[in-house]
Amino acid sequence: MSNIKRLPSCLPIPLEEKELTELVSKAKDWALMHGIGMRSKTSFSEDSINFAPFVLLPSTFPRKQFEKAIEIQTILNELMHRVAHNRQFLRETLKDTIQVDEFTGNLFKIWETVMEEGVAQPLSLGLVRNDLMLDSLSSWKQIEFNTIAAGFGWLGPCSLAINSTGSNNIKQVEFNTISVSLSGVGNGVSLHNRYVLEELNHHDKLQNLPENNALTGMSQGLLEAWKIYGNTEAAVLFVVEDVTYNICDQRFHEFELRRLNPNVKVLRKTLTEIHNESALSSENELLVNGVMVSVVYFRSAYTPDQIPTKKEWDARLLIERSQAIKCPSIQYHLAGTKKVQQALAKPGAIELFLNEAKKIAAVRAVFTGLYGLDFDEAGDQAIQMALDDPERFVLKPQREGGGNNIYGKDIRDAILAMKDTKERTAWILMERIRPPISTGYIVRPGNPNPPPLVEMVSELGIFGVVIGDSQNIMINRQVGHMLRTKNATADEGGVAAGLGALDSPYLI
Ligand code: ADP
Ligand code: MG
Ligand code: MG
Repeated sequence: MSNIKRLPSCLPIPLEEKELTELVSKAKDWALMHGIGMRSKTSFSEDSINFAPFVLLPSTFPRKQFEKAIEIQTILNELMHRVAHNRQFLRETLKDTIQVDEFTGNLFKIWETVMEEGVAQPLSLGLVRNDLMLDSLSSWKQIEFNTIAAGFGWLGPCSLAINSTGSNNIKQVEFNTISVSLSGVGNGVSLHNRYVLEELNHHDKLQNLPENNALTGMSQGLLEAWKIYGNTEAAVLFVVEDVTYNICDQRFHEFELRRLNPNVKVLRKTLTEIHNESALSSENELLVNGVMVSVVYFRSAYTPDQIPTKKEWDARLLIERSQAIKCPSIQYHLAGTKKVQQALAKPGAIELFLNEAKKIAAVRAVFTGLYGLDFDEAGDQAIQMALDDPERFVLKPQREGGGNNIYGKDIRDAILAMKDTKERTAWILMERIRPPISTGYIVRPGNPNPPPLVEMVSELGIFGVVIGDSQNIMINRQVGHMLRTKNATADEGGVAAGLGALDSPYLI
């Protein structure tokens, strides 16, 4: 991978050891004192918070690509809102997957049930995040072109294309529609990076850190949904896990919502509690211990272990049957699956939802190669491509939250094990994006100070807010960003999953 590009550091490194050690100590305290934190997974206590892993100096990111990511957010919001409301497309896309993936199948059943009964709340609230990486090697288009061309014998093998010089264009990793995290701590991370640069007397560099108001933007989305519901007595219900590690991120949204309007009550309940304490009124209003709920904000219910028994599934169905505005509604959750992302990458798919050529082209430009593993010719070809060159891909199931994908040589074993079974239709294959490498310091709780210089790669997330129904989009905004950075050698980079570190873009 010697052709992978490198991004420069925002200031000369390495830092002198004494200066670095002192700076790291200060930066840790700053993080703790401003809520850039998480509860420890190894020694969990409700009474303490660790600082969240962070990158000491902001990572450089090409300004043009950052601006492009910001610019396309409202187009992607529109696309995904329309996808969520296109029954035929969702049904057709997920028809095989739901036969073998029980979790997605159960979500789908809830959707069908409420559609048959009649939808009580036509509006959806989307608090979403589009994740992107810079593609440092080559675009998948080049790879595909050369594959076809090679078939005609007038160009070399596609590995030549992979080795061609890349242009660091942004490519979509995925579009998240449920329990999108890190908008809460994102603002703080931007301020943290400013603090560190100021400590190093680099005041001149602050202008390269873009403003970030993700927390307020996302909380305003919750508030607007609450207002639209139109009952000042009604509460916003946060659906939470049995144990919450990412507590600062969640609480920041709660506190910001109440700062914006102190009349909004906030409830925090697990699905099990909701099952035991909730009912629907004769008008399908959601009542939790008698308190009416106008907005349900899911910070859980996106992995099978978060909906473990029939009780929790019943609670999920009860919520969907209610008049409350859901974030996300069940169709938004389904639209965020990897299988839908792959179907949208097929020729002609975006055109079903967007009609302006400029918008279509902008979306297509950030898609990378995505392939279904259905029992058809295209699926068989994808299986063969994965077996021939597994390092080129990431194999993904219909899961969220990090740690579920398969990489490199393991792809071959996984494909061989599933290729003759229906199981394969629950997975998708994606071209592996190779982001440019930067060098810096990652600070983690419990690690020695000073930290070593390491090679890193980053993933940018852009936050969006959408409110609308099947006919209209009432609100469509881009509201902020976050950057997650991981060791260049790691496959995945989830911060809550313990691999990534919080960062913010330093625009060059
Ligand atoms: P999840 O919904 O679990 O977050 P993702 O599709 O975001 O699933 O994959 C998890 C992580 O795996 C990403 O944050 C990224 O680090 C890595 N990853 C996913 N897809 C790709 C890809 N196509 N190329 C390179 N890395 C990827
Ligand atoms: Mg995801
Ligand atoms: Mg992800």
